[in-house]
Amino acid sequence: MCLFCKIANNELTANKVHENDDFVAFHDINPKAPVHVLAIPKTHVDSFNEVTPEMMADMTAFIQEVAEKVDVKESGYRVITNVGENGGQEVKHLHFHILGGARLRWGHF
Ligand code: IMP
Repeated sequence: MCLFCKIANNELTANKVHENDDFVAFHDINPKAPVHVLAIPKTHVDSFNEVTPEMMADMTAFIQEVAEKVDVKESGYRVITNVGENGGQEVKHLHFHILGGARLRWGHF
């Protein structure tokens, strides 16, 4: 079972900020912004390449709720999902990074 499946199943602990039947969000262990949360589906999906439009609809609503919970909805935030090798995806379980809490820079290679 993959790392994020274990977090979803509570086999591994995570600092959760929001959860429902289908998704869970928790603080990134190595934050790259003052607020850095990961939102994942509880069922295993390898990456954005495999996600269905139906799951994305629910995921979108969930991410909006997370942004509100961690208090970045008004100040602004960034949603990123890394896909595959060139995208820099390290954990092969679909996850959306929600980054905020400061003015974020843009345009690094
Ligand atoms: P990726 O590079 O887009 O796959 O992002 C993986 C993210 O997962 C990285 O930002 C890691 O810091 C984060 N991460 C890895 N293991 C854990 C963990 O056990 N708890 C929380 N975050 C993790």
